[in-house]
Amino acid sequence: LADETLTDADILADPVAKIAAVGGTRHPGIPLPEDLFGESRKNSEGIDLNDRTILGRVATKVSTPLNWKPTQATLGAKEAVDRAVGGFAGWSARSIEERAACLDRLGNLLEEHRDTLMAIAVQEAKKTIPDALGEVREAVDFCRYYAAQARTGLQPIELPGPTGERNLLRMEGRGAWLCIAPWNFPLAIFLGQVTAALVTGNTVIAKPAPQTPEIAAYAVGLAHSAGIPEDALVLAIGGPEMGQALVEDTRIAGVAFTGSTATAKRIARTLLADDERPIVPLIAETGGINAMIVDSTALPEQVVQDVVTSAFRSAGQRCSALRVLLLQEEIADRTLEMLSGAMDTLIVGDPADPRTDVGPVIDQAAYDKLMGHRAASQNRWIKTVDVPQDGLFVPPTAIEVDTIEDVRREWFGPILHVTSWKAGELGETVARVNASGFGLTMGLHSRIARAADAVEDVAKVGNLYVNRSMIGAIVGSQPFGGEGQSGTGPKAGGPHYLPRFCAERVTSTDT
Ligand code: GLU
Repeated sequence: LADETLTDADILADPVAKIAAVGGTRHPGIPLPEDLFGESRKNSEGIDLNDRTILGRVATKVSTPLNWKPTQATLGAKEAVDRAVGGFAGWSARSIEERAACLDRLGNLLEEHRDTLMAIAVQEAKKTIPDALGEVREAVDFCRYYAAQARTGLQPIELPGPTGERNLLRMEGRGAWLCIAPWNFPLAIFLGQVTAALVTGNTVIAKPAPQTPEIAAYAVGLAHSAGIPEDALVLAIGGPEMGQALVEDTRIAGVAFTGSTATAKRIARTLLADDERPIVPLIAETGGINAMIVDSTALPEQVVQDVVTSAFRSAGQRCSALRVLLLQEEIADRTLEMLSGAMDTLIVGDPADPRTDVGPVIDQAAYDKLMGHRAASQNRWIKTVDVPQDGLFVPPTAIEVDTIEDVRREWFGPILHVTSWKAGELGETVARVNASGFGLTMGLHSRIARAADAVEDVAKVGNLYVNRSMIGAIVGSQPFGGEGQSGTGPKAGGPHYLPRFCAERVTSTDT
């Protein structure tokens, strides 16, 4: 079926017999719901879940074999670095405009290939359809935003010369950057890192997460079609050993990494281990033990909706996701009662079904870890929900804990911890959240403006969300990234990101 000629009837008549698996591990099928085109239904991000032009085509595409070919053969670590080092002279000599134009073209190609990319995201990364759409949109945003930032922000700057000399500051590529992406945003974060490094004049060795190589390979193919040379963007597919070999290569000019705090530290140690090696930048975006603080003035319906979105959407597999809900004592019981009702309405199931709110977690290891934690806390469950038994579905669960300090690590899934705080102890509560050492996102629900100001003053987090959900940072509007154990900065999708990929060089000439 050609996309353009699809009718509703075509889609409903072709209810997706099987997913042709690459590797045979994909979802067995997509039951297209009867009401796909019925009453209009928008999800929390305003995406119309009945928009046939997106959902119908994607649901249909998920049923067809993935039909991509990497534009390069799989390379070993050394070959990948050889190639990207070799490509540096040519790529860095291109003008800022030429490089930015490649990003714009890539953004256009991503839009043209949106449905296929969404289908791969659903199959490979188990994204729900709305999440897959958000993924592609964010990737396009990164391309266009960094292209625009490069055009304005990377131009040479003439600086005053008090003694009459001419001073020129230039922003140039450093060499071959290594970009290591996570599986939870296998297109958006993958391309966010890659496009930032490329547009600043670096070449790139791009290492996707081992769980999500296909969408990365497809994206790299599009990038090459957009005019980025094959020796400027080199794909390196592999697991931790490949990652380690790449980081150990002393020709790497910088590393952009998104993933766990432990891996970020291992990378930092490796980069510093060799005395002969240049000191190179590491941009690390890692995890968080993110809290939302709710006081007694908050609007309960809004709180519940934002908690469900922040803790359970994307199966809780976002760094930004809510992990610890802190309710002021006076409203705790009522809020939990409402939360429990809201959790009952969550649809957990096949991510390719447009009705699904919560899909499976990424793999067996993640499933086992989360289910182990959940089981160990069984006597403290506030609420859990039923899920299908035939997949890696972790039941969204709210667990009571005695104190904030009881949540000692990031549980990367749909598990929410809940505790309470006493009136008059807002400042102390924020201080205790800060004390975790992580500093990624924080939520506050309060209708007292002074409370928001006070929290803003003391919260040590990269992204504070007031009276709204805590996920889904928008490129260019909500630059994203944390501090402390949560990362080094600068913020992705923000105005200070690109300069960190550059070598800054000044020429001072006597006139
Ligand atoms: N930028 C994403 C958000 O705001 C989270 C990124 C991540 O999980 O690494 O939800």
